[in-house]
Amino acid sequence: SQLPAREQVLIQRRQQSLGKAYRLFYEHPVHVTRAEGVWLYDPDGKPYLDVYNNVASVGHSHPRVVEAIARQAATLNTHTRYLNETILEYAERLLATFPAAISQAMFTCTGSEANDLALRLAWNVSGGRGVIVSNHAYHGVTHSVAECSPAFGPSVPLGPHVRTVPPPDGYRHGEEPVGERFVRHVQAAIEDLQRHGIQPAALLVDTLFTSDGVFADPPGYLARAAEAIRAAGGVFIADEVQAGFARSGGHYWGFQRHGVVPDIVTMGKPMGNGHPIAGLVARPEIIDAFGSKVRYFNTFGGNPVSCAAGMAVLDVIHDEDLQQNARDTGAYLKAGFERLAEKYPLIGDVRGVGFFIGVEMVSDRQQKTLASNETSRIVNALRDKRILISATGPAGNVLKVRPQLVFAQEHADMLLDALDNILATL
Ligand code: PMP
Repeated sequence: SQLPAREQVLIQRRQQSLGKAYRLFYEHPVHVTRAEGVWLYDPDGKPYLDVYNNVASVGHSHPRVVEAIARQAATLNTHTRYLNETILEYAERLLATFPAAISQAMFTCTGSEANDLALRLAWNVSGGRGVIVSNHAYHGVTHSVAECSPAFGPSVPLGPHVRTVPPPDGYRHGEEPVGERFVRHVQAAIEDLQRHGIQPAALLVDTLFTSDGVFADPPGYLARAAEAIRAAGGVFIADEVQAGFARSGGHYWGFQRHGVVPDIVTMGKPMGNGHPIAGLVARPEIIDAFGSKVRYFNTFGGNPVSCAAGMAVLDVIHDEDLQQNARDTGAYLKAGFERLAEKYPLIGDVRGVGFFIGVEMVSDRQQKTLASNETSRIVNALRDKRILISATGPAGNVLKVRPQLVFAQEHADMLLDALDNILATL
């Protein structure tokens, strides 16, 4: 079927004025003009259920966040070279969500910049250069972060100082316990760097391994991986851009599930509910070692409007009990997928925690054959039912279920019913 003429014109204009680097979701791209809560609306006012947007995490256009941004924008917006209390209040409140050893914050505008800065801190404090990431990690778009992001594929080569390790895949694994295997690979990567005369600087991981295919379990092994990198003189950087801000339900931050205290934690996406604010928190000695040599000024990072947005997000997560909702409704949703897995052999594995669930599709359960085409058909069929979702993993055969923290049981039921219908006809 054809896209309406109006959308075809927009696609032509994008190609004309934005060029080739941008990509659209879905065979029939979605045209949206406004959003509220878990709903996006097209120009005809038709609603689309958003099961994918972890940025507008407390709900699209949340009135408290909108009001905080508007009020601060009408009062003062400037940078960090003046004394102002807003950034301090935000930093203090953000840091209060972390273990005591992590006591300083620095602000950026994107998750990529936060990881870029984290690498600079790690390189500085360790005196090394080597970085270890997972096989299909995505950490962002700046040059130094892109070369630590194998998810880009061969067109963006990894840096010579970068080593990759298999994610803790509890679905495709051998006899060895998954956590043990991960730690063993980290140790091997450390030794390989050393053999090449590269001193290890950092183990950088997305604590839910979301672009590798969503691997939350088993809890605990990241603590041992962190010990291994520290013993080699490096630091452990937890990338919480995806996992952070209560998404995993049981905890506010993904690393907490592993009982580990990272050296540096980076964050972004949901931090301002769509307003561009990102940053990192770290052990103070790491920031001291950098800051005593280097001046850091980020024109927009930490501006009062961004901090007001960030503060409103913390308030809403707390006041609306969204961490608990992520845990409870997330468990409800996961149980729903598990029921579908009993009915449809195409579902090979259901995994994840809270509001980050991976549903892996296989065309043969014995062989665990990657069902990439079927997954793409499901994603597009859901879109045609006006439910927005995507796929992840190196083969794109894992449904990436990452709803907003305000997703309710009725929304979970809509998604599960639609998926049931689609699987029945596939
Ligand atoms: N880290 C992770 C784990 C991410 O998923 C992303 C964005 N997809 C980034 C970093 C980069 O964030 P940004 O797009 O804000 O630069």
